[in-house]
Amino acid sequence: MFRVENLLKRYGDLIAVDRISFEVRRGEIYGLLGPNGAGKTTTMSVLSGLLRPDDGSVHFDGIDLLAEPIRVKQCLGVVPQETALYETLTARENLRFWGGLYGLSGAALGAAVDRVLEQVGLTARAGDRVRTYSGGMKRRLNLALGIVHGPKAVLMDEPTVGIDPQGRANILDTVRAVAAAGTTVLYTTHYLEEAETLCDRIGIMDHGKILAEGTVADLKARAGQEEIVTIRGSFSAETARDRLGTIPGARLIHSAESNVVLGVQGSGQGAAQLLSDLFGSGLPVDAISIQPPSLNSLFLNLTGRELRD
Ligand code: ATP
Repeated sequence: MFRVENLLKRYGDLIAVDRISFEVRRGEIYGLLGPNGAGKTTTMSVLSGLLRPDDGSVHFDGIDLLAEPIRVKQCLGVVPQETALYETLTARENLRFWGGLYGLSGAALGAAVDRVLEQVGLTARAGDRVRTYSGGMKRRLNLALGIVHGPKAVLMDEPTVGIDPQGRANILDTVRAVAAAGTTVLYTTHYLEEAETLCDRIGIMDHGKILAEGTVADLKARAGQEEIVTIRGSFSAETARDRLGTIPGARLIHSAESNVVLGVQGSGQGAAQLLSDLFGSGLPVDAISIQPPSLNSLFLNLTGRELRD
């Protein structure tokens, strides 16, 4: 449905999106997973026609976004990170306003508003002013504004940021319902668990690049059998490299000031051997963590960093 090829976007000297390519298939929930600053919002802004890329192409259902932006935008819904609600209006009034901007009117507008209120679970509160809503309800309404016109695909940029776990679970259920009703979803998040439970396929993004892509099962298989050992302490990158880089069975993934990441083979035994060698090395260590193969360990392996760093 979306075909993104070789997409490049710069802000001055900074390369925010670094020649990425990916496809979003009809009916799927595709997740861009990455930390703050990875380039997710910039990618979404280009795909929604708000920003012009410096190079590359985006096709939606075969239509060239750069050549025919209005035709593509008519098929899309956008749920931005910031909520764009009129607090003194009710949910129904907000939705009627946005639905009207999208060209709906009369009975069609009323039916669309009722449908989307039901989808996001706000029917019972539809007549209340938005300023009386909880943060989670505002997020759900924000999502509803992006789909009120029944788009073929919707772009959702971190729709769960800043809400409590129950509010988040509600949003995720709503996203699933939207996808189940036939809308293709492109979803960004920096929460690994969200990507893992929600998305049919995931692109792992960092520093403007997609480092790995696939289903959760594909990505877990890519994580392989290695356990990831992260060591923190008072040492320089060089010292860590010298003392730990040559330990048999351990692969140095990343070394920086006070932080070194290694991959070790074998369930538990490799890590146990590494720990024993580590204590023998005399490196001043403050903390050690060992992670079994998982999406998180794959991310660490690819970037040398935790998603939450
Ligand atoms: P976040 O979740 O924090 O929004 P992100 O993955 O969406 O992160 P982007 O917002 O796309 O990342 O930012 C990618 C890079 O581009 C960052 O280094 C950011 O500081 C930079 N950037 C984003 N918008 C602008 C802008 N308008 N001008 C200059 N630099 C920008």
